[in-house]
Amino acid sequence: FLINLIGESEASAERVFEVLDTHSDVQDKPGAVELKQIQGAVTFDDVTFSYFRGSPVLKNVSFEVKPGQVVALLGPTGSGKSTITNLIARFYDVQSGAVRIDGNDVRDVTLDSLRSQIGMVLQETMLFGKTVRENIAFGRPDATQEQIEEAARAAAAHDFIMEFPDGYDTEVGERGTTLSGGQRQRVAIARALLLDPRILILDDATS
Ligand code: ADP
Ligand code: MG
Repeated sequence: FLINLIGESEASAERVFEVLDTHSDVQDKPGAVELKQIQGAVTFDDVTFSYFRGSPVLKNVSFEVKPGQVVALLGPTGSGKSTITNLIARFYDVQSGAVRIDGNDVRDVTLDSLRSQIGMVLQETMLFGKTVRENIAFGRPDATQEQIEEAARAAAAHDFIMEFPDGYDTEVGERGTTLSGGQRQRVAIARALLLDPRILILDDATS
């Protein structure tokens, strides 16, 4: 039994280290500066982008979003909506043109200072095997219960959380309560709202 287990662990460990050793193509450039507290202006300036060489997913895309403005992107599946959100947080680099936040090219600032100011709720919600409270406070572990509840109320999550026998102490996931897809998304929205980011991206988070 142990010999089998060792064999399996060895194979798994190899795979894990492969992932850990992977280098992202997107890196802080030498001399990247901290992005100061942003207002939240987002500019796409003639952006062309493809995941692979050849057929671009975005071709000469330009638009401007003012701080405080709410913008909805509509389009069929595969038209590039999620790709646009990926470029704002610089998960990929554009092939030509530029993505700017408050006039700063996202390639000129550190990834940490950029991403810590952007709240994202993705289609596939990532929750951890922890309590509902810990999941909401993930990006702000020092948040008070009051702040957590305020975010949960704004995300329309407070009421169903209170219906669980353990309320905010309910364990989520494998060992705990299984949340529905809609409930998971609301918890993820509360998590993003608690950060109170100047840029909030909801990618298909309205299902
Ligand atoms: P939408 O969000 O509007 O449904 P996406 O931005 O997800 O569209 O996808 C736009 C196009 O880019 C699609 O053709 C999709 O197959 C392709 N694409 C999306 N993500 C990746 C990826 N990580 N690697 C390669 N191709 C991708
Ligand atoms: Mg999408």
